[in-house]
Amino acid sequence: MKLVKLIANLGYGSRKDVALMFREGRITDPAGEVLYADDKVPHEHIRVDDEPLDPPAGLILMMNKPLGATCSRKDQGRVVYDLLPPRYRVRDPALSTVGRLDRDTSGLLLFTDDGALLHRIISPKSRVAKVYEATLAQDLRGDEGELFGSGKMMLESEKEPLEPAVLEVLSPRHVRLTLTEGRYHQVRRMFAAVGNHVETLARISVGGLTLGELPAGRWRALDAGDVATLF
Ligand code: URA
Repeated sequence: MKLVKLIANLGYGSRKDVALMFREGRITDPAGEVLYADDKVPHEHIRVDDEPLDPPAGLILMMNKPLGATCSRKDQGRVVYDLLPPRYRVRDPALSTVGRLDRDTSGLLLFTDDGALLHRIISPKSRVAKVYEATLAQDLRGDEGELFGSGKMMLESEKEPLEPAVLEVLSPRHVRLTLTEGRYHQVRRMFAAVGNHVETLARISVGGLTLGELPAGRWRALDAGDVATLF
């Protein structure tokens, strides 16, 4: 791909803007030598305003989603895409969230521009474990673990029973729940179905990937080692 198109697709500006950036000498190699639009250089040797060029297609990010932000692109309120650099919102191919977390759910949220990877993570067939911690309005009644793990639990308006889920009781109103699928409002609906109410909900891991020290509202790109822990 020609450099102007490559850099424009990454969201740095229109092709016209990027052509101007070349003329202004803002696109260089790591030694600071100015690059020209028809140079042939590997992606990792390109710098823009002395910063490495954003990664190519195949980008995967992890965010510690804060409460109050939605995973929608169009919401009038705060959206998770607002927490990414503006360039990442206009990349081509587009970045999207891997599944969704509710506005009132915090924690580990992935983004990718790789459709196949996205499908692999969210597909129930892949059985990628998503672990949530929830606090509940009422004490557990005692039979939830068995029901959630049965593979027979039906949620209202669903045609298929839920995949077996694993419930760990941390205290009578504090649980860890491991799911291998991601139905709409699944954790909240599972507890509502047993007469309880989820007060707080956070996703703490996806596959073997955890947030580590990533503060709420911050994100980082995943490297190959991180991605390997997902499956
Ligand atoms: N289950 C829910 O109910 N909400 C989420 O955000 C994720 C899982």
